[in-house]
Amino acid sequence: MLWLKAAVINRPFGLDNLSVIEVPDVHISDDEVKIRVAYAGINPVDYFIISGLRSINPVPHIPGTEFGGYVEEVGSKVKGLSKNDRVIVYPRVFDGVCDLCLSGKEHLCRNGGLIGGITNGGFAEYAVVKYQNAMKIPNNLNWESAVSIPVAALTAFHALMEANIKPGETVLVVGASGNTGQFAVQLAKKMGAKVIAISSKPWVKNIGADEVVSLNQAINALQRVNNGRLADVVVDSIGSKTVERSIKLLDTGGRFVTFGALTGITAKMTISEVYLKEIKIIGATGGTRKEMLRLIDMASRNEIKPVIWRTFNLDNIKTAISSLFSRERNGRILVKIAG
Ligand SMILES: [Zn+2]
Repeated sequence: MLWLKAAVINRPFGLDNLSVIEVPDVHISDDEVKIRVAYAGINPVDYFIISGLRSINPVPHIPGTEFGGYVEEVGSKVKGLSKNDRVIVYPRVFDGVCDLCLSGKEHLCRNGGLIGGITNGGFAEYAVVKYQNAMKIPNNLNWESAVSIPVAALTAFHALMEANIKPGETVLVVGASGNTGQFAVQLAKKMGAKVIAISSKPWVKNIGADEVVSLNQAINALQRVNNGRLADVVVDSIGSKTVERSIKLLDTGGRFVTFGALTGITAKMTISEVYLKEIKIIGATGGTRKEMLRLIDMASRNEIKPVIWRTFNLDNIKTAISSLFSRERNGRILVKIAG
C-alpha cells in the first residue's frame, strides 16, 4: 500500500491534537481529481476547524481549506483537466442542483460546506476534490499568489461585490493587514474607492491604502479623505472587539459588511444609529466560482498579490498555524508542500 504524509487532527481536537503522520493513499471516484499539493494557505478558518468549532468530517481529519497543486490523476468522467495541470481549489463543496447553486450562489449551497471542513483538505502531499472544484491557473501565476486566491482574496472580493462599491466611495477596512484585509484594500482600490486602512502595519500603505491609521484616528482620517464625511462602506471581519465602533464610522446611508468574527461572534449595536442613518448591514461568506475566475485573471496580470510573512514546510504546520495569532505577524503564512 502507498502512503502519504498529511496533517491529521483527531478528537478531542485543538492544535495539540494535530500531528503530521503517514496515512494510506487516497483513491478517486469517476468525477474526482487527485492533486499533488504544491502550496497551502493558513487562514483563521483552519484554526477554527482544528479547534472543533466547525463541522468536521471525516474524523480523524485532514484540514486545509486553501490550496493548489498539480493534477496527478483524473477520474473517468472528469472533463477539461489532465495530468500536471496547475490548479487551485474552489474551497466549497456544492451539489450544483439546489436552487442556490442554480442561481450561481454555489458558496451558499443547501448541501454544501467547506473543503477541509466537511471533507478532507489540503494539508497533505495529496488531496482529492470533485473536478468542478479544480480551477486551472496560467503558467505565469506563481504559487504564492495563486494559493491566496481561494479563501483570502475570494472572501474579500465577494464582500466588496456584495457591498456594491462604486468609484469615488470611501471604504474603511478594519484589520487591513490580515489575510482578507490585505486583499480588501487592494481590491477596493482597484474598484476606484478611496481606502482607509485600520492597521498598525505601515506596509499597508504600499498595497494601495490612502491612509493607514488606528481605529482611534479613523474619524479624522475619514473626514480628511472624504470631505468631512464618514465612510461609505466599512469592511470588518474582526468581530466583537471592533464592530460597535466600526458602525459609528459610517456616514448616512453607509454599508457595513462582515464576513468573519476573529475576536468573537457577538457585538453590541445601537439600533437608533442604524435606522436614523439608514445603515445597511451586509453579510458575506466565501464567494462564487465566477468571482474566483476573475481573481485568477487579476492575479495573473499582477493586479493583486499577497504580502507573505513566512513559509513553512508541512512538518512545521503546527508552528505555522499557531503563528496566525502572533503579534509579529506581518502578512500571510503559507505552507510549501510540493512547490
Ligand atoms: Zn447546491
